Amino acid sequence: MSHSENCIFCKIAAGVIPSRKVHEDDELFAFHDINPWAPVHFLIIPKAHIPSMAQVGPEHAALLGRMMVLAPQLAKVQGCNPYPAGGFRIVTNTGSEGGQEVHHLHLHVMGGPRPWLRG
Ligand code: AMP
Ligand code: ZN
Repeated sequence: MSHSENCIFCKIAAGVIPSRKVHEDDELFAFHDINPWAPVHFLIIPKAHIPSMAQVGPEHAALLGRMMVLAPQLAKVQGCNPYPAGGFRIVTNTGSEGGQEVHHLHLHVMGGPRPWLRG
């Protein structure tokens, strides 16, 4: 499951489809959401193709931990205000009933002054 044909987020991670990059390392890629709900709204994805949280197992614990540790670091850099008056929201939609549209695991990280468009 390192790469999936016709997966838009695999193509973004590979640089084949352009994005507004926020962060890149050997395992993770982060970029601004094209349709932001909040003043700050970016996505964190693993470079490896994992369809959703439904496919996650114990072998992914370290990878998911890295994603969760990266989220507050990038939120701060991207301009989310400090906790507790500021903060941010982390969302992971899973499956159609969970509201997932792109089937490559991603964390939404949203923040900034309210009101937001959604969320
Ligand atoms: P989800 O509904 O959780 O699967 O969210 C998918 C998110 O990907 C949505 O918020 C979209 O706006 C975003 N998205 C889709 N295509 C792109 C793209 N090419 N660049 C950046 N964000 C995208
Ligand atoms: Zn993918």
